[in-house]
Amino acid sequence: MSISRRKLLGSAAASAVLTMSSLLDTLTAKQPASGDERRNLNGPESRIVDIHVHFDERNPAYLEEFLRVSDRLNLTACMLTPFANRKVVAEAAKKYSRQIVPFGFVELDAPDVVKQVEELHSLGFRGLGEMEFVKKPYNDPSYFPVYELANRYAWIMMYHTGIVLRSKFDEPEDVASGRMRPIHLEEIARWNSNVFFDLSGSTLTKMHSRLADFKRIFWWSGQPQDSKTPNDDPSAFVKIVFGSDTELHNIEGVKAQYHEMFDACDVPESTRKMIMGGTLSAMLGLHV
Ligand SMILES: [Zn+2]
Repeated sequence: MSISRRKLLGSAAASAVLTMSSLLDTLTAKQPASGDERRNLNGPESRIVDIHVHFDERNPAYLEEFLRVSDRLNLTACMLTPFANRKVVAEAAKKYSRQIVPFGFVELDAPDVVKQVEELHSLGFRGLGEMEFVKKPYNDPSYFPVYELANRYAWIMMYHTGIVLRSKFDEPEDVASGRMRPIHLEEIARWNSNVFFDLSGSTLTKMHSRLADFKRIFWWSGQPQDSKTPNDDPSAFVKIVFGSDTELHNIEGVKAQYHEMFDACDVPESTRKMIMGGTLSAMLGLHV
């Protein structure tokens, strides 16, 4: 590594997703800006920014269909793109920069992962995600060259944490939730204020009858001691960002579920705006 671990950890940041079924995605990014840019995002026409939209390589009409959804919902997507599809998404992101922010999916264990990441950067990608199916815990030193590059590029890193699927339910596979536990991100991101969570992975559906339980997870709302929140937001819920992780026709439904949870947990209006787009717009420098 060309920079020290301390330096890397000191300047990196992150966000994440939490579900009751233990799915949790985590992102690392540079510190969100505060000030005018952020305030401008708080108007009634605020754009939604979705951290968790998987590019579907099996659907040849995917981009076209996405753009329609994006127009209808006033939504910008961080588009999680398999490396093989990098060029088509990079191109689309240049053409529709207001709607598509390209994120690259790479295998952290691939022998040429650093080269892949450099190429993604040269194509204009803005982050990596989602990280998953790792052979070693996320804080393994062998992954640090990738984190070092991401830090240099001021990228957002999005990690799956918690329970992970096998590709075939009843067949053994070398994947393990234990390598993807959120505690492994502590050294990468824990003490940085730019760690966030999204609530994807059907959590809001599964917890529908007890959405107020999220108050127990984000219990440090309004606690004065040792509980700093980004931009001193009064609500710990500001650590959430919107992420749908679903098919295009379901994004609107996930948006409604987020709002149901906001109501159940009395999330302040200004915090809701940060969750639905303010935080990610500031991180990504979107002028929306
Ligand atoms: Zn996902």
